[in-house]
Amino acid sequence: MTHQITSLEELRRTVAAWRAARQRIALVPTMGALHAGHLALVDAAKQQADRVIVSIFVNPTQFGPNEDFHKYPRPLNEDLAQLTQAGADAAWLPSVELMYPQGFATSIHVSGVSEGLCGASRPGHFDGVATVVTKLFNQVMPDTALFGEKDYQQLAVIKRLASDLNMPIKVIGVQIARETDGLALSSRNRYLNPAERAIASALARNLQLTAAALMAGAPVEPSLNAGRSALEKAGFNRVEYLELRDAETLTPLKQSKVGARLLAAVWLGTTRLIDNIAVE
Ligand code: AMP
Repeated sequence: MTHQITSLEELRRTVAAWRAARQRIALVPTMGALHAGHLALVDAAKQQADRVIVSIFVNPTQFGPNEDFHKYPRPLNEDLAQLTQAGADAAWLPSVELMYPQGFATSIHVSGVSEGLCGASRPGHFDGVATVVTKLFNQVMPDTALFGEKDYQQLAVIKRLASDLNMPIKVIGVQIARETDGLALSSRNRYLNPAERAIASALARNLQLTAAALMAGAPVEPSLNAGRSALEKAGFNRVEYLELRDAETLTPLKQSKVGARLLAAVWLGTTRLIDNIAVE
């Protein structure tokens, strides 16, 4: 059974015992509502370390005032059952009060990579992510931390953060787990009604087609415009962005190159979906 930890003292004791036994520790930060994408991170973590700890914390500071913090799913018992099944050693379950006690006043801002894309429409989101991940890193002090490429900009922000602040933690990105029709797994997919779910797979398909065109040498701006129109035609009510960026720095690219990444955010009703693909 995955060991549930709810106090900082117990977390420190547990981690100290692992360290004393010279065991390597991998951390998988999540917001719960676990699916096969999260479990792929746990599997990848097991390859990297002797002990795997998964944090489950719906972090209020990364949600905007009109976002879904209150309705975000919190199926804790199912999550713990899945973690036990996947062989995670511990689940770190801090409360909001533990993470942000009265008087909490610190925020971490990573500039550059956090600008544009999701950063443009979600002001403060990546500050919330960088701050909570820094806290989780300081609490657990893992050797390795694993994040999904699904949230590609988040992964880039965390790599930058860990490098800039000399955190002795290896940050590893894990490829996107998908449904059979291509839809990237997400805790938010459960918000989709059947009609929306049928449309949703067009996002991954569109990214593949656009990436294939770019790889074949098609010019960037016309290809992105064609991609945006195709997404709207497929039934997404808004294309928030479809952009080609450098895979590491996330600077916008006017021409495709090896090491480019195509990233998109679209809306289906009130649900926002993101996805991305390598162009190489
Ligand atoms: P979340 O619980 O949505 O904050 O996600 C926790 C971690 O799981 C993040 O590093 C995500 O990028 C990762 N993740 C979420 N969905 C997927 C997916 N479909 N494939 C791979 N990783 C994922």
